[in-house]
Amino acid sequence: MKLNIPYGRQEITQKDIEAVVKTLQSDWLTQGPAVAEFEQKFADYVGAQYAVAVSNGTTALHLAVKALNTKPKSKVITTPITFAASANCIRYCDAEVIFSDIDPDTLLLDILNIKQLLQTAPKGTYSGIIPVSFAGYPVDMEAYRDLANEHDLWLIEDACHAPGASFIDTKGKLQKTGNGNYADATIFSFHPVKHIACGEGGMITTNNFELYQKLRLLRTHGITKDPLQMKENHGPWYYEMKELGYNYRLGDIACSLGISQLERAEEGLDRRREIARIYNETLSDLPIRMIHPPKSIDHAFHLYIIQVEERLALYNYLQSKGIYVQVHYIPVHTMPYYQKLGWRKGDMPHAEKYYQHGLSLPMYPSLKNQELAQIINHIKEFFNENTSNNTSKRRKQKSIS
Ligand SMILES: *Cc1c(COP(=O)(O)O)cnc(C)c1O
Repeated sequence: MKLNIPYGRQEITQKDIEAVVKTLQSDWLTQGPAVAEFEQKFADYVGAQYAVAVSNGTTALHLAVKALNTKPKSKVITTPITFAASANCIRYCDAEVIFSDIDPDTLLLDILNIKQLLQTAPKGTYSGIIPVSFAGYPVDMEAYRDLANEHDLWLIEDACHAPGASFIDTKGKLQKTGNGNYADATIFSFHPVKHIACGEGGMITTNNFELYQKLRLLRTHGITKDPLQMKENHGPWYYEMKELGYNYRLGDIACSLGISQLERAEEGLDRRREIARIYNETLSDLPIRMIHPPKSIDHAFHLYIIQVEERLALYNYLQSKGIYVQVHYIPVHTMPYYQKLGWRKGDMPHAEKYYQHGLSLPMYPSLKNQELAQIINHIKEFFNENTSNNTSKRRKQKSIS
């Protein structure tokens, strides 16, 4: 029997369904009690003071870049190994995207490259940095905070892949991704392939009260009904639009699903880590390169990434068995839109080399052990067939591990 295993998928329980139905039967489909409850519970989960729920991860990025007063024409640094949204949000604010190459050992931005970029630029050239906790490997935001302070920059962590991740800082303290201790804002997505599914949804967390207020204002047209923030007050109907904002709200239907999903977040993380451990152990003898985070890091495993010499052949082989692996990501700077802005293939050698070899194996909490065993067997089969046909290929495969 042919398998049908995607690289990632949501899990909806009876409890999730009941939570959504309860909202459908209530007075509020949007902007009712579920929004504030989801924000509070999510803030508690990541250990931040404030959370703002928005319509998706992309609008979360846009609002954060906007609320941090990014100057048009200024430059913002991000990684080419991410979803296009991490860069596009900079363009929405008429700022310039500066891609910087990755560290091949972590697949995250290489902070040494960024230091060099900043050192050689006149003050005020750059507005901020958007590091991405790619695949669930948490960025060391403490190191970025030092750099940001030195150069007067804001910091937005794109943690769409990393709810529940953490790292140990230089003071020996555990820092949960999104806790607001180092980043000005951290953003999350609740698209169904991410850890927590709302259908569509996003969240911004911060410890900065002023920023929190600004984000809330911009989320809903720049309109306030808070008497303390209004110039006049004509009666109970009165509101003021103070700035040009958006409708980036998340509704009660989505939030009630998010609240229910959040209750199982730790369980899901444990399962993701278990799956990663099994991949690590069973695939280690093959000519496969894996990421090996240090002990000080708790990876959230949104993706489990391997790098192999014969990527296309392995992709096709697994696909023929019904195992739908994926490639994350085509380097953003090579997209036609960014090429029009002057970026070229060859600009980011590490990112481009990674893209030649990277493959995301199935990784989601409801993946069964039996399915996992079948995936692993098929990968082993692929290498057995390949190596018996051609021993020189095997040498080549080895050379990238
Ligand atoms: C999913 C994702 C986004 C965008 O989130 P949406 O909710 O799909 O808008 C942004 N950045 C990264 C790294 C993502 O994985």
